[in-house]
Order: sequence, then C-alpha cells, then structure tokens
Amino acid sequence: MKFKFMKNTRIKKLKVGILGATGTVGQKFIVLLQNHPWFEITVLAASKESAGQTYEKAVSGRWKQEVDIPQSVRKMPVLECDPRQFNSHERIRIAGAKGGGAQFAYCDFVFSGLDASVAGEIEKAFAMAGYGVISNTKNYRTERDVPLIVPEVNPNHASIIPFQQKRRKWSGFIVTNPNCVVVPLVMAIKPVMDKFGISKIMVTSMQAISGAGYPGVPSLDILDNVIPMIGGEEPKVEWEPLKLLGDIKKDGFKLANIKISAQCNRVPTKDGHLLTVAFSTRKPAKVGEIKHLMKNFKSEPQKMQLPSAPQKPLFYHDDEFRPQTRMDRDRENGMSVSVGRLREDPVLGFKMVVLGHNTIRGAAGAAILNAELLYKKGYLKARL
Ligand code: NAP
Repeated sequence: MKFKFMKNTRIKKLKVGILGATGTVGQKFIVLLQNHPWFEITVLAASKESAGQTYEKAVSGRWKQEVDIPQSVRKMPVLECDPRQFNSHERIRIAGAKGGGAQFAYCDFVFSGLDASVAGEIEKAFAMAGYGVISNTKNYRTERDVPLIVPEVNPNHASIIPFQQKRRKWSGFIVTNPNCVVVPLVMAIKPVMDKFGISKIMVTSMQAISGAGYPGVPSLDILDNVIPMIGGEEPKVEWEPLKLLGDIKKDGFKLANIKISAQCNRVPTKDGHLLTVAFSTRKPAKVGEIKHLMKNFKSEPQKMQLPSAPQKPLFYHDDEFRPQTRMDRDRENGMSVSVGRLREDPVLGFKMVVLGHNTIRGAAGAAILNAELLYKKGYLKARL
C-alpha cells in the first residue's frame, strides 16, 4: 500500500526519532512517515540486541511490511533507547551506516512503539530530557495528567500538557493513543454520543494476529482457530473510552458515565480488527438519524487538514455484507473506520459492525495524526 497525504504543504520538517523502530508498530511508523510533509525520520532505536547494527540488518528476516525497507532508513544505525545518545551532536559511527559510516543522532520529538514492559521508564526518560513522546503503549494511558487522544474525538484533551509538565517537572511530555480496538469503537460512537448521549455499550472484537506484535501468536494456536482470550485487553476496552469520551478539567479528566462490556477474541486475519457493537442511547433516536450522523461526521483533523486525516473518518456501508476485514481495512490509507449493519437491537436499542486497521488507525497512524494535531496546536516544535 502506498501512503498518500491529503495536502503537500512545504515547510521545514521536524526531525523524528522512533523508539521500538524494529517492531510491528515501529515498522509501520517507518512506512507511513515516508514523504511526510511535516516530519522526517532521523533516529531509530530499539533494544540492546538490535542496537549497533544498521536498520536493515536489525530487521533482517522480520521486516513484515508489504513494501521494501525504504532506502532512507536502510543504512541508519539502530541506537539504544537512551536520550543521552539522542542528544549527541557527535556523529554516531557504525559500519555501513548512512553518510559514509556516520550519522547524527538528533531529533525534535519521538514516537514510541516500545514493548510495554520497558516503555514506562524509557518514555519517562525522554519526557524528562525535553522530548515530546507520542506513545502507542498502555503505560501512561490511565494517568490523570496524560492525555489519551483520538484527534476526531477529543482533540481538546491536549490542553492538559502544561499541567503534566508542571506537575512532573518535565520539559517534555507524553501523549498517548488508545488501544487498537478502542480507536474504531470511540470513533463510531462519538457522533451518536454528541447528539443522543450513550449509556451502555457491549462490544465483541475479532482481532487480527498483527495486533500481537512479531512473532506474536504461534501459528499452531491461531491457524483454523479462534482464541477467546487476549490477555489484559478487555479492561482496556472497557476503561479507555470513558477517558476519551469524558471531559477535561484543569487538573485531570472526568470519565464519561457509560457502562461498557467487552469480549475480545483473536482470529486468523492478518490486519484489521472487526467489532460487533450494541449500544443504548440516552435520548430516543432512530436508525436513519444515526446513519445520517455517521455519514456526515467530520471533526477537527478534517477542518485543520492534517496530512494524515482521512476525508471521511467514518465510512458508512449501505451494503449489509460490509464492512469486511480484507476488503475495507485499507480505506483511505487505513485511516478511515468502516461502519455497517446499523439496526435496532432488542436488548440495548442499536447494534452495528465496526472495522479499523489495527497497526495504522489503531497504532502508528493514530500516533502520527496525534503528532500532526500537536504540531498544529504548537506543542511540538524544533528543539534547536
Ligand atoms: P513488537 O513487534 O514486539 O515490537 C516491540 C519493540 O520494542 C521492538 O522494536 C523491540 O526492539 C523493542 N524493545 C523490546 N524490548 C526492549 C528494550 N528492553 N529496550 C528497548 N526496546 C525494546 O510490538 P508491537 O506490536 O510493535 O507493539 C509495540 C507497542 O505498541 C506495544 O506496547 C503494543 O501494546 C502497542 N500497540 C500495538 C498494536 C498492534 O497492532 N501491534 C496496536 C496498538 C498498540 P527489538 O526488536 O530490538 O527487540
């Protein structure tokens, strides 16, 4: 898939580092940031095992994207995830690296696709050292001073950043995007919530194997099978929407008053999480009214013309056999969420099918859109 941007504005690009650059999400960052009009990759980092190698060597045998490793990063050295190395204006020397075996290690902010077991300390170290950290991991999502953002849903939550910096005495900051099931769920619910209110949601997910990273789920477990358990997933899907759909206060967030029940399943698709969702509105609504809201939904990223924003953040399918994972996950470069089969539900009121690309809209693409929003709002700037 070739990634196209909405608008090719010519500006001086911010320099970007990627923490966890060798993983599933890290690789997707590299693909999506090629030819980005505002950001350019200058530093790649991963674990000690990968550090010290060129990027192409570090991902040898485990590059899983459908396009080749971009030329611009092949010879870049992989660094350790240590901000002291990043601050260096010395050339990092490494055999075979870009520019005759040497590379500067400077960037203005970092994306994090780190394994959650190590993300906590590493992301904190970068925020303390003055970097904006745009994170995919769960570690800070529940903190009261860390925004959890989907730009179409709660772009105003970015305004907690100064409070976070003051409270933690950080010159940088951390901003997170939610779990890959939560992104399509809250995007589909948002226009309904704004107009009619929402009191209850029941969601059942059918989640692709790429959601488990690489090498992920063993083939003998997932081939010809459905696994009705994804460790730690259901609590995230039941809690994160409450923060996203809640209100911001000057010193934290007020959670939305919604009861959510989630059941998460791993299924043998490669990319794309399909959800069946039933929900109750607080005010009376009609199927036709909700469809109309979804078909016409646009939000701040579309108004601001952010480069990665889809023109239609929600694509409503009138064909009752859609959305389907393989056919619809790549809509608008994987950034548009598909919805279909909205109908009455005898228990909760309404039900529908929702689909989102997990490694794009649910991970790397979500973080890039967050960075574009933060750049436009003035939170991300050149450090030098
Ligand atoms: P992954 O494929 O396992 O990649 C993990 C990355 O973390 C690799 O680059 C790895 O480097 C690095 N890493 C591991 N241990 C490290 C250490 N001690 N120090 C520094 N770096 C270390 O995982 P993933 O699927 O890309 O997920 C990354 C994060 O995004 C996770 O927190 C995950 O929950 C979240 N996420 C994933 C998805 C998805 O669809 N996959 C969606 C939303 C959020 P090496 O290669 O050198 O080991």
